[in-house]
Amino acid sequence: MLFLSPGITAYCLILAFVLGAVFASFLGCMGWRICNGESVLKGRSHCDSCGHVLSAHDLIPIISYVKTKGRCAYCNTQISPMNFYGEVILAVVFVLTTLRFDITWKLVLMLFFVCILYLVSVTDIYEQIIPDGALFVAVGFRIAYWVCVEGASWNGALGLLLDGFAISVPLLILVLIMEKILQKEAMGGGDIKLLFVTGMYLGWAQNLLAIFFACIIGIVIGMVQMKKQTEVSEESVYFPFGPAIAMGAVVSMLFGEQMIGAYLSLF
Ligand SMILES: [Zn+2]
Repeated sequence: MLFLSPGITAYCLILAFVLGAVFASFLGCMGWRICNGESVLKGRSHCDSCGHVLSAHDLIPIISYVKTKGRCAYCNTQISPMNFYGEVILAVVFVLTTLRFDITWKLVLMLFFVCILYLVSVTDIYEQIIPDGALFVAVGFRIAYWVCVEGASWNGALGLLLDGFAISVPLLILVLIMEKILQKEAMGGGDIKLLFVTGMYLGWAQNLLAIFFACIIGIVIGMVQMKKQTEVSEESVYFPFGPAIAMGAVVSMLFGEQMIGAYLSLF
């Protein structure tokens, strides 16, 4: 469907980019509000520094930030570039996901999954929390997909549960043992619950690949932060693992099937 004609391809990909940026803007705001105890749906967006209510043209994803060179249009305070980078990243991920799944129901499922991953990354970076509510919504949407698209078979339900538990339960046991030995927290409970959700969306094999990528990403970010830390201060810097899991899950969603296929063809 996506490749019927160059015009349709271009239209769909541009639409995916714009939607990705808009959702990132919305979810970034939602994540911030969850962390600051504000109502998620009520109230208008405002500048955190001067409190000025932002109008529609201040809220255009990516463009507003570039136009004001990353400053508030009213008080000139520097705005964190995190939202801007997030908008670009989610826009690109939306485009890649569209290319990967074409115009199908699976695409809708995976775009929803990517949005949940983005939201929990935002809250994990701000406050080191992965809200249960977001995970419940993700599980609910996956079950709705199983009912409406996959035909709600018992086999499908069993598969879904196995996909969810296959990585998260062994990991939970491993973490509990590690914590007993190290006498300190090894991994947050939110991370394990998140891996249950990624398993339901990716299947157990790709979820295994996702946690493999997450560890690599986590180690790289950890090393960068340790380098920064010795330069700036002695205070320990804590990087939440949630965003690493989210990135690993996205890489696995986009390329996992081919990678697993290529690996298995070696034997
Ligand atoms: Zn301001």
